[in-house]
Amino acid sequence: MQTQQFEALLSEQLAQDIQLQEIRAVHGGDINDAYKLTIKPLDSAPRDLSLEWFIKLNDHSKLEMFAAEYDGLKEIQGSQCIRCPGSHSYGQFAGSSFLLMEYIAFTQPKSDSQRQAGLQLAAMHRTVEKAGRFGWHRDNTIGTTPQSNAYHYDWISFWREERLRPQLELARCKGFSDRDYKAGLHLCDQLPELFDGYEPQPSLLHGDIWGGNIAYDTEGTPVIFDPACYYGDRESDLALTELFGGFGEDFYKAYEAAFSIDQGYRQRKKLYQLYHILNHYHLFGGGYGQQAGEVIRELLRHCR
Ligand code: ADP
Repeated sequence: MQTQQFEALLSEQLAQDIQLQEIRAVHGGDINDAYKLTIKPLDSAPRDLSLEWFIKLNDHSKLEMFAAEYDGLKEIQGSQCIRCPGSHSYGQFAGSSFLLMEYIAFTQPKSDSQRQAGLQLAAMHRTVEKAGRFGWHRDNTIGTTPQSNAYHYDWISFWREERLRPQLELARCKGFSDRDYKAGLHLCDQLPELFDGYEPQPSLLHGDIWGGNIAYDTEGTPVIFDPACYYGDRESDLALTELFGGFGEDFYKAYEAAFSIDQGYRQRKKLYQLYHILNHYHLFGGGYGQQAGEVIRELLRHCR
């Protein structure tokens, strides 16, 4: 997008004549082009107009992906438990789709930041779906993979039908071995064995909370972004924090003190990580397929 187009887009979205002072590419994401936009106030601009904005751009066809992210940010913000960027608007402009949100300057975490993140995520997980359903009012994406959030009253059936089985089908198309695919289907049938004595609640989840989707503002306050929200077992958020690192001991201690974790989590963690490993196999191929097969076999051993 050209400077003039950015200027026109912002003028339209902010309903203000604005002048762009700077466009700076922001790196770190793996899906979209992202920019910090700094505007120069004109005499007519309201005093409270933010001068810094964060925008993500992708193909014209990606509107729904941004619409779901917009709704996810609103949902997290609505819980008032943990900071996330305020989402301003999304749409299509000059052949691209965009998501416009509050710009937040990130710095290194402070000594208390991880503890705060644990406490605040635990608080967010206490926000539950009012009708007791697992899922969300809309579908979204995990990475770029479509993710169905069709409502279920039963968590195991949600995880089986909306998460595990669709990823097994994607894996099969990618070349997942027949043996592992069949073992995966067998695991789908055995799921209740991993939930003996445990009844998950439909908690508000970030849904994609790996270390790359949390950062810290200049006060050291945690900020979560790039969500794939739905209401589900909070253990699935925790399991993802453990898959790719980025969360320290203070985080887990604070979380556990605020919201105790069931003993069976140690086994279910692998089940929840399996979804993301399969998704990585679908998106990136390589050794993730073999890793997924090993996890499936390990989980099946616990089922017998
Ligand atoms: P992608 O959707 O491509 O994965 P992200 O949402 O992860 O992109 O954003 C890319 C990078 O931009 C992040 O790693 C983070 O450092 C930064 N970022 C994300 N949201 C904001 C924001 N609201 N303000 C400032 N920087 C942000």
